Amino acid sequence: MSKKIFNLILLGPAGSGKGTQADLLVKKYNLQKIEAGELVRAKAKEDSELGREVHEIHKSGRHLPDDIMLALMREAFQNIEPDKGILVDGYPRTLGQAKDLDKIMNSLKIAEKRIAILIKVSDEEALRRLLNRSVCRQCKTVLIGRDKKICPRCGGEVVVRDYDTDETAVRKRLQWFHEKVMPAIEFYQQRKMLIRVNGEQSIENVFEETVQKLGQKIR
Ligand SMILES: [Zn+2]
Repeated sequence: MSKKIFNLILLGPAGSGKGTQADLLVKKYNLQKIEAGELVRAKAKEDSELGREVHEIHKSGRHLPDDIMLALMREAFQNIEPDKGILVDGYPRTLGQAKDLDKIMNSLKIAEKRIAILIKVSDEEALRRLLNRSVCRQCKTVLIGRDKKICPRCGGEVVVRDYDTDETAVRKRLQWFHEKVMPAIEFYQQRKMLIRVNGEQSIENVFEETVQKLGQKIR
């Protein structure tokens, strides 16, 4: 049975539920996930010049510059299986990064079909969710609400991250999205690669809308 290979680029502000949708999409379409946050955390632990630099920047809460993100992405793309689609999450976060990702995919001749998915939520909704979420220290699963102390997925300790308690910091992240990520989204829009999904619905309905719109794009 022949199947179409396609690559997904998942976009959305913090609080859009992107991580959850990423997992669902990976499972449904048997994709390999490249998650920028994971790459950054792994690199920050590495005992190398780049590792130490990433550690310093990451610790300070600043965004990693495009060239460092490109290096991490290139590395990740070296380890992919060529006959399987990819889902990229947490990248690109600037227009420059969108162009970089395009170049990586072109150079590796990865399936022509590339689709960017934007999960849309309003700032008010994102803010409301971010100020009410917690995260598993171990597997990094993000949980809605702050009442759970033990992760339902892995049994790890659930904590509230400092940057999810500071409203100013949260607003700053949303601001970054408007200023820096929107131009990347427009990049995909202009190339007719973009699907927009309403993120202000239940997890199931967001997923259903995504799958339905993807179906129209990949046939
Ligand atoms: Zn966990």
